[in-house]
Amino acid sequence: VRIDSDRCQGHAQCAIAAPAVFDLDDEGFGIVGDDGLVPEGEERAAQQAVSSCPEQAILVIE
Ligand code: SF4
Repeated sequence: VRIDSDRCQGHAQCAIAAPAVFDLDDEGFGIVGDDGLVPEGEERAAQQAVSSCPEQAILVIE
């Protein structure tokens, strides 16, 4: 997964929906760790994060 930083407005919904995938930087904008790889078993949570982002800022690359 990737976050389009031009779109991200720091709503933090991604980190709430999928804390194993998304984190927030010091200013509250979403970031991904581990090169954006979704850990095994976290696919559903990651998908929920995509749906819950109000800015459609999360891209899924498969
Ligand atoms: S939910 Fe979307 S807008 Fe909010 S921090 Fe995450 S990527 Fe950014």
